[in-house]
Amino acid sequence: MRTTLKPQTENAPAKVKDAGLISLVKGGDAAYNAKSGEILLLPGGALRQREIKERLAEALFGGAALQRVDCGSDEAVFSLAERYVREWQDTATAYVDDRGRELRVLGWSKDTSDAGQKTSEIMAAVSGALADIPGADGSSFVEETTPSYRSFSLLFPCEAGSIGARPGFICKSCGKLLLADSPFEFRPPQPSQGEAPEDLKDIETPGANTIAELCSQLGIDVTRTLKAMLYVGSRDETAELVPIASFVRGDYNVSMNKLSRWLWDRHGLYSVRTAEKSELARLFGEVAGYCGPIGLPEGVILVCDNSVRDSKNTVAGANRPGYHRSGCCYGRDFTSDIADIALNGQGAPCPCGGSFEAVSMREAGTIQSGLDLYRASLDSKTVTPLLDKKLSYRDREGTHEYPAVWGGVISTERILLEIGCER
Ligand SMILES: [Zn+2]
Repeated sequence: MRTTLKPQTENAPAKVKDAGLISLVKGGDAAYNAKSGEILLLPGGALRQREIKERLAEALFGGAALQRVDCGSDEAVFSLAERYVREWQDTATAYVDDRGRELRVLGWSKDTSDAGQKTSEIMAAVSGALADIPGADGSSFVEETTPSYRSFSLLFPCEAGSIGARPGFICKSCGKLLLADSPFEFRPPQPSQGEAPEDLKDIETPGANTIAELCSQLGIDVTRTLKAMLYVGSRDETAELVPIASFVRGDYNVSMNKLSRWLWDRHGLYSVRTAEKSELARLFGEVAGYCGPIGLPEGVILVCDNSVRDSKNTVAGANRPGYHRSGCCYGRDFTSDIADIALNGQGAPCPCGGSFEAVSMREAGTIQSGLDLYRASLDSKTVTPLLDKKLSYRDREGTHEYPAVWGGVISTERILLEIGCER
């Protein structure tokens, strides 16, 4: 007689905080190797891992026309596409490849808009399949701004310390999830709404080169201040550094990823980084700690976050050491490009009336699009080995190119952890 190995136990594995893994071990579906961190799937866990994979692959074919293959590497998938694209065109440009406990999705599109459409279809297919798996519902794809491509993460709210957990924010009133760099335009109305505009006035603020010190010296709320963050970027390898002055309201912080993305899209700038002390003096003048949006030197790119729009009677740097300027009114005293360049954080208000709280979220997948060849090369982190090969074919009408690469992974192991032992 044959018996399936299913060693159920009351003992939780040592040093494991992941509720899903504890459940799998207790239920006899998995064992845990604490030394290597490996999850060893027993017959019950292995079977369900395969079932999840089957459902996802089926949904990806049905919903996004991804061809299921078993190639094992990006290079091998590319060679399939290259071999068949001329005769099969779009049918040969979108794949889901089996990589053990992950499904790799990978493909090529004619432009970034097609690639964006494709990744939307993939996300809808994955979400649809997960909604039908008991215990795997409750996930969301959350966008994250990067300097040069679009990125989405498949996230499940989870306990801190869970495998694959990363920090994020949740609005408990409506359930919306955000990562620190997620696009998020909403800002609450200015506290100065309805006030009469004050006159500009320079005030001596010795040593007040932080927002906290400024608030304490003047006895004002942080929402009445403007925070300057100064950066430099470049247009090509040899070009001179371009100075960038960005402003957020004092209770916000600048997201380097969002700012970098905006500077790339609007000004073709890349390699954006914090300005060093010597560069500050040379490019912005003697303004360290006292930089404001009124009267910046020529050539400085000025951009303000949404939180600065319609601000009135704020205190900002006066662009001279030891001085701030009160009564600053957006529109009257300065205007600028306005963009979503702030980090999302704890306590940020949600349009629904609630506010965001810190939460851990298990990342069970990512998908990226718009990795077109020129942009991807700007940030080494975004370059995959595939990007130096171009998918194209020639026929009588000429050369047809698929320069926009999209790709991602869905971890069936992480989804299994989310479900835990069969309920
Ligand atoms: Zn909400």
